[in-house]
Amino acid sequence: MEGQNKKIITRFAPSPTGFMHSGNLRTGLFAWLWARKNKGTFILRIEDTDKAREVAGSIEHIKESLRWIGMDWDEGPDIDGPHGPYIQSQRLNLYKSYGEKLIASGHAYADPYTPEQLDAWRKEAETNKKPFLYREHRPENPPVWDGSMPLRFKVPTIKKFSWTDAVWGDLSAGEEALDDFILIKSDGYPTYNFAHIVDDIEMNVTHVTRGQEFISSTPKFLSLYEALGVVPPTFVTTPSVMASSGTKKLGKRDGAKDVLEYKKEGYLPEAMMNFLALLGWNPGGEKEVFTKEELIELFDLNKIQHSGGQFGDEKLDWLNKEHMKKLSPDQIQNNIFSYLPKELQKEKLVQVIFERISKWSDVKTMLDSGEFNFITQQPEYDRVKLIYKNSSAEKIKNNILQAITALEGLDENNFDADSVKNALMSVAEKLESRGELLHPIRYALSGLDKSPDPFIIASILGKNETISRLHKAV
Ligand code: GLU
Repeated sequence: MEGQNKKIITRFAPSPTGFMHSGNLRTGLFAWLWARKNKGTFILRIEDTDKAREVAGSIEHIKESLRWIGMDWDEGPDIDGPHGPYIQSQRLNLYKSYGEKLIASGHAYADPYTPEQLDAWRKEAETNKKPFLYREHRPENPPVWDGSMPLRFKVPTIKKFSWTDAVWGDLSAGEEALDDFILIKSDGYPTYNFAHIVDDIEMNVTHVTRGQEFISSTPKFLSLYEALGVVPPTFVTTPSVMASSGTKKLGKRDGAKDVLEYKKEGYLPEAMMNFLALLGWNPGGEKEVFTKEELIELFDLNKIQHSGGQFGDEKLDWLNKEHMKKLSPDQIQNNIFSYLPKELQKEKLVQVIFERISKWSDVKTMLDSGEFNFITQQPEYDRVKLIYKNSSAEKIKNNILQAITALEGLDENNFDADSVKNALMSVAEKLESRGELLHPIRYALSGLDKSPDPFIIASILGKNETISRLHKAV
């Protein structure tokens, strides 16, 4: 099916209408993976023909989103190639020439009607309980198209179209989807329906990867390909990604976030790519953590599913942690330190923190919620809570004193978690319950109901501070 000797060319064609959200980028990622897998070409094309919906700065934002997760493009707005320019508003002459070609072949006409006239026909159709169709009002002698009127497509044949989608298999849609649609608006800009087809033809795109919402328009596209005498490319329709709650498609209005927000929150780009790739695709098997290279190798259009899956931050967090674990100790330390003030940039803290985060910004959350305050200042706490379960104040006091004696025997310069553990366990082992020693020590040192184990805390505080806090508890 893939045309063994034809170079695969895919494209991602976002519109600059604001930030890039995960569902959109996922569709682009599939196109990219397919091109990379086949050593083909991946084109980034900006579809900016709807000027009313354009948001300033979006093009940069789109490019940054792609770059961040690691998607590069071979041709695009800033990488010139044989089919440029890659921004539709810079290709208006091309659409115009295609428009003229269609007029010449009898497949397009200048639409001379005023909004009032169209309104009247619409009302008439409504009264007659019939659908309003432009094709029933084709002008007999259309004026010469001078660009001031919309250019409308003249659907050559009204028929049922059948086609094969790489993901969905055989599809078909009836005549109701067909009507004369606008090719070029009176503002000189082409419609999406027209421009993307011209560009996909001119750019020799072999695989058109886009979201499910375009399936219903496919008869229009096929009709236009037919009028142009061009064999359509392979359609790769990606399943919609669902929002994390409910049954709605992930969309900007339903909590879909800007992809670059995830960058700000300290997610790893390789985790984000891995996560997006699994929204509607799976190579089969249990494995879920993939590098970029593995994704490229394993990706296959045949494995794209009919469900895009649910967007879930929990899954993303889990994947992110898995990718974080692949980093070197130095990388982990540097990232964690970048969120910590100087006085907390302690090597011993790194492991403690790393165990409890799933993205770098979690360090900031921990910091902001005061979880590290006990390190730089003596904690305030409820003395009663020093007493473990049914134990007595007397017993606890005695145990802590024994612990102090054991810790005093340690070298101040080798006060690491293991030495502390050996010293404390030698005392704890002799007790009825270890908790009668380990709990009060942990609490006396941190003042927190939940904290890392007392050995690590002691090693972070150092010998003098540890013993001083234990004396205070006594
Ligand atoms: N500009 C369209 C969009 O952003 C692209 C659809 C397509 O890939 O053809 O939805």
